[in-house]
Formats: sequence, structure tokens, C-alpha cells
Amino acid sequence: MASFAEGGRVSEVLEERTKYVQSYLRFVETEIGKRGLTMHEKGSNMPQQNEHTPLLVRVPVDNSSRARYPHTTVRRFWTIALTAIPLLTIAIVLFCIAIGGQSDLFGDHPTESGSLPTPRLSSLEAKLPHAAWPASEGISYAKLKQILESTPDASKAREWSKYYAAGPHLAGKNLSQAEWTQDRWQEWGVKSEIVSYDVYINYPLDHRLALLADGEVSFEATLEEDVLEEDPTTSLPDRVPVFHGYSASGDVTAPYVYCNYGTYEDFEELQKANISLAGKIAFIKYGGIFRGLKVKRASDLGMVGAIIYSDPGDDGEMTEENGHKPYPEGPARNPSSVQRGSVEYLSVAPGDPTTIGYPSLPGAPRQSVDGKIPDIPSLPVSYAEALPFLKALNGHGPNASSFSADWQTGGLAYKGVDYSIGPTPDSITINLMNKQEYVTTPLWNVIGIINGSISDEVIVIGNHRDAWIAGGAGDPNSGSAALNEVIRSFGTALSAGWKPLRTIVFASWDGEEYGLIGSTEWVEEYLPWLSEATVAYVNVDVGAIGPYFRTAAAPVLNQAIYDITAQVQSPNQTVKGQTVRDIWNGHISTMGSGSDFTAFQDFAGIASIDVGFGTPGGPDSPVYHYHSNYDSFHWMDTYGDPGFLYHVTIAKIIGLLIAKLVEEPVVSFSAADYAAGLEKYLTSVKDLAHRSSIDDTASKHIFSVLDKAVAGFRKASTAFDENAGALSALLASSAVPESSVELFKSVRTVNSKYKLLEREFLYAPGLDSRTWFKHVVFAPGLWTGYAGATFPGLVEALDDGNSTAIAKWVAIIEEKIVGATGLLEG
Ligand SMILES: [Zn+2]
Repeated sequence: MASFAEGGRVSEVLEERTKYVQSYLRFVETEIGKRGLTMHEKGSNMPQQNEHTPLLVRVPVDNSSRARYPHTTVRRFWTIALTAIPLLTIAIVLFCIAIGGQSDLFGDHPTESGSLPTPRLSSLEAKLPHAAWPASEGISYAKLKQILESTPDASKAREWSKYYAAGPHLAGKNLSQAEWTQDRWQEWGVKSEIVSYDVYINYPLDHRLALLADGEVSFEATLEEDVLEEDPTTSLPDRVPVFHGYSASGDVTAPYVYCNYGTYEDFEELQKANISLAGKIAFIKYGGIFRGLKVKRASDLGMVGAIIYSDPGDDGEMTEENGHKPYPEGPARNPSSVQRGSVEYLSVAPGDPTTIGYPSLPGAPRQSVDGKIPDIPSLPVSYAEALPFLKALNGHGPNASSFSADWQTGGLAYKGVDYSIGPTPDSITINLMNKQEYVTTPLWNVIGIINGSISDEVIVIGNHRDAWIAGGAGDPNSGSAALNEVIRSFGTALSAGWKPLRTIVFASWDGEEYGLIGSTEWVEEYLPWLSEATVAYVNVDVGAIGPYFRTAAAPVLNQAIYDITAQVQSPNQTVKGQTVRDIWNGHISTMGSGSDFTAFQDFAGIASIDVGFGTPGGPDSPVYHYHSNYDSFHWMDTYGDPGFLYHVTIAKIIGLLIAKLVEEPVVSFSAADYAAGLEKYLTSVKDLAHRSSIDDTASKHIFSVLDKAVAGFRKASTAFDENAGALSALLASSAVPESSVELFKSVRTVNSKYKLLEREFLYAPGLDSRTWFKHVVFAPGLWTGYAGATFPGLVEALDDGNSTAIAKWVAIIEEKIVGATGLLEG
């Protein structure tokens, strides 16, 4: 095995990595039916890249050698980790009693790859796995928690927010921010590296949106958001034009149809009403579902383009119509605000659409993007500039008022829009021109590590850094500012002598906005290691744009987040001492998609949680200008989180949650909550089956099989949690023996099972219609994109009324639940 002394290191690392990549390509070969692809070693001559580096036109599909970026250390780290894992598995018992302080990954004392620390059997009896177990090493757990609660600072969070939101940082154009982030993390004592991928994405070149009457231009949209004197971000000369990520280039002129939210159901209603759609342009409202799926459905129905606008009818009470002044004078939506965003078909697969299922490394084979991104052009537009188009529809075709309730939410009637559906006559058309430059270009994740005493029990925490706009103070950089405060807090603990029990990996992802690219490619690259070692993934995207705590989580993490939110003081106390838990309604959403947890949860089967403070659009909530120039530092400082108290609060929640997951000797999961989740999800599938075409006898059979499996899992999970609780109590009591190999083995076994439980629900061939999604319990809804669908394989089979698929998915789900039961009982 390679030793990682200086000299020769680079080529050895690359060799290791090449071998590793080869195993991925074998997987890919099977998937794409090709043979004989090999990765050649990349060159070791590494020029300094920066964001001004000319973009690569396209990463070659051949094996030609190409220079790499300077991130050998992180490669070395992962290589070591990956090489060590099989051996770890074999030597698991010995290792678990000898792990104390011997596995500095990514550290000053590189472990020789492949040569694990030799267990010193004679000293086992006297040695705890963690020098101060069950307390933290170096400092007490109480002291650690106190540091994590007292270190996050509002003025610092404000400073980081100001930094990140000071200029454009689109995916692949933010290397200076990646480097700055890395520098800060290093400065705070967390070793960090930049990990890059070469990804296929688009940048806007040109666009036009015009209303034509009898061939003459009657309105030409500026496609610009107003420059506001109060908000310097809005006038930056290099601000990002309005466009859609992964939109198709095209120039079309056609009559158009008002399509409401453009959901699957909305289009069904249009079809039922015999509205002619083929050859028309879809005029759609934002909201309800992921925007890419609006464009997908329009395209599927033969439409030739899509315009998507933000209707103030979805802004709740906070509208101009209700007398609120728009931003910057007041909290209502600025009429010129435009929501940029990706139109990738996110529910089909996230990540680089040319490398579905494997990492976008240089030289990786590239697949066609057909069926993964739109084939018709689309543009986003403000409501101010949507008005002339909507008014030109007045009187053409049926009125939205004759459609279902979902169609009655338009908020521009007071501006003279009657929400006629159209289509417009041939004399009234839209010219939609969208010109995008598609390139394959590097993007940059920053990955930081704090080595724990246990190297194969890892907690990953991530936030994306890239934004659609120059600002992004809310999305994502409220999360980035908070994450920096979390890392600075852990750095403070490190300098006080702390060494965590488990290993922590921090990530600042690039390319989330285009389609969760940085995180997806990284998970695809390190899948074997992540599968073996990762206990949980914690995500923060929009960290703080309002006072309402919200979270989505894998059920095993429910108790942990209830516990942590009950420890953190709310900045919004009506009664002294109120915690975030006291004010939060306690709702935990189902894992779907829409942020970087997707690859962890749905592809790798790693229990994940997403946290942040948001605005529910209530009467007192300022409108959040999502993906608009007005998601700026000025907006944040004035309306979103003046005082930055919610930035600090989310930093405390994340810090304490990580500490809990990292430091508690018995992993703080609840398997019984997973059982409760499965019961709940099964009930909703029963309701669906009831409404579907399958007959009652078939339905009874399905659910008797699944009810039985879930009941078995419930029994096993309850017993397992009880055992874990007893171990935990024993460790916390004074009765804990100073050394006990048996006890250590028990704890290690319980922890390994908690870690691997989520993996039991993966089905390697994936869902029928979208094989990248491997989890049988969680996936984004096929036609919603963001919202979590449960038992997606079965639900889609029921939706299709396909009895073969129904039988197949009942068998798969039963097998997975029984497998999970076996893991807990075994
Ligand atoms: Zn985001």
C-alpha cells in the first residue's frame, strides 16, 4: 500500500483514486451498457485555478490527461479512509476496543494507508475507546455545550453575511469565496480542502420577452429588477441576469395559455377543458411544485416555451393590495422582483445531468441530457412585467373562476387581470428568446474535517455557498454565516483541548442551485466510504429569514431535534425563558428534495435532517424575495433578521445537534420513531389505494403483508431502543466499570446498527421511473419535486394502476422492512 510521505504522494494518491474511480465506472458500464471504459491517471502538474480561468468548453469523453486542481490532501484523506474500511470491517471487534486516538484522518500524523493501528491486546482491558468516555475528551460535554452556546456571535454572523452577499457567486464562479471559506475554517482550527468537479451547466447570454399584437411589439419586457437606491446590491454592474438554470436555448413566437401553477393537475384541467396546448407558450405562476416540473409537463404536452412569474396572490396578507408598501419602503413584494432558479428535472435525478449516478470527474463519460433538463426555452418574469401579458389574455377562452379551487388564488385582479385562460388568438403572441451558454466547468466544494477518536462514525454537516444572485443573504448565505459560526465555535472547543468522539465533516457546497450538484457529485464519488462510515447528515440551506423554526428529518432524528430545540433560547420570547421548542409547533416534514440532503438521504440512505428559520407567509411576515436581487444584505439587515439573532440561534441549534450526535456514547437515534413513521406513511398509502382502481381483495392482501412487516419492525425497534437506552444509562451512571470489553462491544454494535439502519431501506436498482432514487421510503414526489413522497415505488405503481408493479413494490418494501427488522434483532 502507498505510504503518504512527501514525494511521490501526488501520483500515489491519484493512482489510488484512479482505482477507485474504476470501480465507479464498472457500475456505470452496467448502467449505460458500455464496456471497456478506463480512467487514466490525471496529470500531477497542478496550475492554480481561479474563477477567471477560461471555462472548459467540454470535458473530453476520451482518456486524455488533464491537469487537476490543488486538493491532494483531501484526496489523500478519502483514499486513506476508503482503503482502510474493508480492513476495519474485518477487524471490527478488535478495532472497537482499540480506537482511542489512533486514527487521525486528514491530520498531522497520516495513518499509513492500509495498515491499521495494531490492537494492543494486552492493554485493552485498561483502555477506554475515548480517553474520557463517556465524557468529551479534553473538556467535559457540559463545557463543550457551553462553548457551542456562547460562541456564536451576531456581529460576526452579520460580517459573514455581508461578505458572502457582496457580489455574484453563481456555481462555478465563486472560487474566491471557496478559498476565503477554506481560509476562515483553517484559521479556526478546522483542516479544510477544496474538492472540485467538472460539471455541465449554463450561463445566460441573452434573452427577450415581448408581447406582439398583429406582428407589432405592444410590450417589451426589460427582464430587469429595479435598481434601488437603498439597496446597493441591486445596482452592482455585474449582477446576475434573470434566467433559469438548465433552461433550453430557443427563440419561439406563439400564442399562449394561462396554466395556473403548472402542476400535473392544472394541466389535466386544461386538457379536460379542451384548451389547445400544443404549439402554445405556457404562462405559469410560481408556487406549489418545483419549477422544472412545470416546464417538463408543458413540454410533454407539446408546448413550445414557458414563462413563469411570481403572483402576489401567493404572498398571503403581505401585499400592496392590502395596503403594505413594497420593498424597500415596506415588507411587501417589490413588483419588479424575479425568481431565478433551476428547471432541471429534479425528481428524475439531481446533480450533473451528464453523469447521473457517478461523479463528474475529469474524463468521466458524459451521457445525453435528454429527459433530464428541458427541451423548450423558459424565462422567469416579475409580476409587474407579467401584467401586460395577463391582461392581453382577458376575455380569451374560459375564465379561471370556472376551474377548481386551486385556480382561484390570483392576486392581480385589482390590477385589471381577469385570469382568462386563453389561448390568445393567433394575432396575440409572445416572442420568447432564451440564449444560454452550456459549458463543462469546475465547481468547488470546501470540505473540512475534525478527526474524532472513531474514524468510521462520521457526522457530515453542509450548506451550499452558491446563489442565483449577487446577494443571497437568505438563500443560502444565512446558512453559510451560521455554519461559519458553528465551525468557529468548534474551533474554540478544539483550542480548549477538545477531541470529539466521532468524526465531523463540514461542507460548503457549490452548485446547489442548479440541481444540488456539489453535494450530489461528492456523495456519488465517496459513496462506499459514506455508506460505511456516516451516521447522519445535517443540512442548513436558508438558515434564517424569519422567526419560524422549520425542519425536515429522517424519523430516527426526530427526538434529537426536539431535545436540542428545547435547550436553545428563542429570540422571540413572550414569556421569559421560552425555548425554540416552546415556540415551534413541533411539525417535522418528510424528507423530499430541494436541498443538499437529497443525495445523502435518497441515494446513499444516510439519515438526514434539514433545519432553518423561515417565513410561513403569515400576516406579520415580510415577503422573502426568493432568488431575486432583493434577497440582499440590505433586506436581511432591515427585514429578514435585523440583529442577526436568528443566525446565532440556528448556529447554536446546529452546533448542539452535532455535539449530541458526535459525543453521546450511544448514538442518539430512535428506531421506534422510524416505525411510527412507517405506520403513518402506510396509512397514507392505504388512503391512496382506497381511491385507486385496485380492487379491495388485492388491497387487503397488500396491506396485510406490509402491516405485518411494519408491526415486526415496531417490535424490534422498541426493544432495540430500550437496550440502547439501558446502555446509555449504564454509561452515564457511576456503575460504569472502568473497563469492559463486553460493554464496549455492545455499544459499538448498537451504534453500528443505528448507523446502518437507514441503509436497509435502499433498493439498488432504484425506483422504476427514476433509478437514481434508491430509497424505498423517501423520494421527492415525481410531480412535485420538493415535497417528500413516501413509499414512492408503490405510490407510483398505484397511480398507474399497474398490478405487476404494485406486486413488485409490495415485495420489495416488505423485504426491506424485514431486513431492517433483522438488523435490529440480529
Ligand atoms: Zn438554497
